Amino acid sequence: MNQPPQRSLHDLSFAEMERELCAGGVSTHHAKALWRVLHFHGELNPAARDNLSPPLQRWLANSVGQGKGFFLDAPEVVQESHSSDGLTRKFLLRLRDGHSVETVLMGYDYRHTACVSTQVGCAMGCVFCATGQMGFGRHLRPGEIIAQVLHARRVLLATHPQHRLRNLVLMGMGEPLHNYDAVMQALDAISNVRGINIGPSKISISTVGVVPGILRLAAEARPYRLAVSLHGSTEAERSALVPVSGKWNLAELIAACRSYGATTGKRIFFEWTLIAGHNDSPDTAARLAELLRGIDAHINLIPLNPTSGFGGTPSTAGHAFQRILQAAGFPCTFRQRRGIDVAAGCGQLQAAARA
Ligand code: SF4
Repeated sequence: MNQPPQRSLHDLSFAEMERELCAGGVSTHHAKALWRVLHFHGELNPAARDNLSPPLQRWLANSVGQGKGFFLDAPEVVQESHSSDGLTRKFLLRLRDGHSVETVLMGYDYRHTACVSTQVGCAMGCVFCATGQMGFGRHLRPGEIIAQVLHARRVLLATHPQHRLRNLVLMGMGEPLHNYDAVMQALDAISNVRGINIGPSKISISTVGVVPGILRLAAEARPYRLAVSLHGSTEAERSALVPVSGKWNLAELIAACRSYGATTGKRIFFEWTLIAGHNDSPDTAARLAELLRGIDAHINLIPLNPTSGFGGTPSTAGHAFQRILQAAGFPCTFRQRRGIDVAAGCGQLQAAARA
């Protein structure tokens, strides 16, 4: 007889968890305790906790494990690197099907941030990105996204027991808005006050310009921060770096950003990877200022992380570029290349592991 496919307990929303317990003859009253064990304690062996009620312990024993209805997402660390300053730790995590993804834990000034992946590989193909260079594998499930945050939090607890994981950025492997439903379900769980409890305003979704996803975020009033990777001030400049601009061009993207800003009243963070000779000239900075005029925008300038599949080099004209944008009235800051010595640009650890 064919067994129904197993599901991850971490893939269940709270309402689904209640339904599953009810179907297993356990009162929904126990869902809060199960949620807390999985999402607050991040327990990898919940059945072993002796403070659970007997009905819940029996349900876990009967329902979770080999040949049973559920499993737990507990990715295995296959590689770990630390930056030389010790502030960035990068993990290559193997999923149940053998694919692996990257997760980064960064700690600066007592602020700890996890950077997680949302897909295996990426379909967007940005030419300067190691993940884009490896192509698309598959979408991650909500549980696989949650499990990365739980892993980062576990590491933080072991190394800095007095600190909390307060920030999350979806800037690892993959385009979050290409995996919209799974990402939103994961973020609902991660921001739940009874679980990991990272505040929605401390969660950043980074997109390379998936226009329908940006509009959907606004229509659904999602409470997260939006970061848009722009990288070009004209169609030609952008499409040379970001092939997805062939699908949603620069004009459509900027219109979507204006609409997002008008609907939500929220600031948008624009990410700009500075590449010598490609997008770092004073003319480009002036065009960018014109393009964003009227949008509540913060511009993050990012020095290029060199990758073996792209011949571009980091710009040395960043400060002049920054001054032009600031003179036009935009907050404009540099994002540090945190942990570049551990290949912390997304996809770089996995590319190195494959080489
Ligand atoms: S930069 Fe982001 S969207 Fe572009 S290929 Fe890399 S992972 Fe995908």
